[in-house]
Amino acid sequence: MKTIHFIVMTAAVAAVALAPQGCTAKEHDGEKQMNVTSKPFGTAPGGKQADIYTLTNDKGVEVKITNYGGIVTSLKVPDRNGDFSDVVLGYDTLDEYVKDNSPYFGALVGRYGNRIAGGTFTLEGKQYTLARNNGPNHLHGGNKGFDKVLWDAQPVRRPGTVGVKLTYLSRDGEEGYPGNLSCEVVYELTGENELKINYRAATDKTTVVNLTHHSYFNLAGHDSGDILSHELMINAGHYTPVDETLIPTGQIKTVDATPMDFRKPVAIGSRIDQVTGGYDHNYELDKAGGGLTLAARVREKSSGRVMEVWTTEPGIQFYSGNFLDGTQKGKGVVYEKYAGFCLETQHFPDSPNRPQFPSVVLKPSQEYSQTTVYKFACM
Ligand code: BGC
Repeated sequence: MKTIHFIVMTAAVAAVALAPQGCTAKEHDGEKQMNVTSKPFGTAPGGKQADIYTLTNDKGVEVKITNYGGIVTSLKVPDRNGDFSDVVLGYDTLDEYVKDNSPYFGALVGRYGNRIAGGTFTLEGKQYTLARNNGPNHLHGGNKGFDKVLWDAQPVRRPGTVGVKLTYLSRDGEEGYPGNLSCEVVYELTGENELKINYRAATDKTTVVNLTHHSYFNLAGHDSGDILSHELMINAGHYTPVDETLIPTGQIKTVDATPMDFRKPVAIGSRIDQVTGGYDHNYELDKAGGGLTLAARVREKSSGRVMEVWTTEPGIQFYSGNFLDGTQKGKGVVYEKYAGFCLETQHFPDSPNRPQFPSVVLKPSQEYSQTTVYKFACM
């Protein structure tokens, strides 16, 4: 197949408003430097070695990412007193990610994030059949999605950022999808306490693509209980209602006067009882065009930590960790229901079957790209 070259976007990300102020630095913080290192993380299925990359910035923020599934395994950010906590759910070892039926903790999700109804869609007159790995539906790319493959990796160092570049060729027919899809995902940590994710993909046959990131956050610390008191703002006046199998009905409804309305900050738990099953919905972001815009802001009062999510995508899945049930033990703690929340920037679920939703079709003449930034500060 042809080699696909990516155009490197240098000026892709516009300035983000929230500075990392408010998190009081400790005295020794001045000695810290931007750095990226790697070491072995274990043997991945198939026998190859997986590595783990540690990115650190000059404020002491540290992110660990493995090239198995592009998984963020840990993310340490300061609170208002300068004390660091790991704010993402996950495991200590590769084996647990492989064997513990991980609910996509920290994962890079593809070829299609979220659900496709009945595991089937038609493209250019041809019907494609995918795994039904979530009740009657297809979820997060199938039985072996991008979260379960070993990506090639190399460190990235640019002025003001350190990162890791992951590349993966998803072969024509893999998990039932058409086209050789050449993917590149760059995770970068900046000196402004931002975790930036740049996704690129190109295909040699018309296909569908929807890549996202699946960290479960708990801004009080991954081991601190539930996230129900976190205050959430989502910059969206509309959402896509779902049926009982979590497939969009096709409507795009106003959040007005419903427990779905997060336009003003409100505690996640304050109306969750009014939402059947808890929050697991796609929001249509309020934005003009495909630029990088603020999608969500979350604040945790006891630590003072704040996280903003900026994206070029049209939608965001707010998932309140409803299916966590105490069967996952990670990093020394059992994760109970609502132990973490996800904010997955994306195109809408089931778009291949919903022509009225923004298109997820990628043609050989096109390049897929999306940028998402998770930015940390204190208030
Ligand atoms: C989905 C949930 C699902 C979770 C873990 C989220 O993106 O919306 O329904 O349970 O991922 O698989």
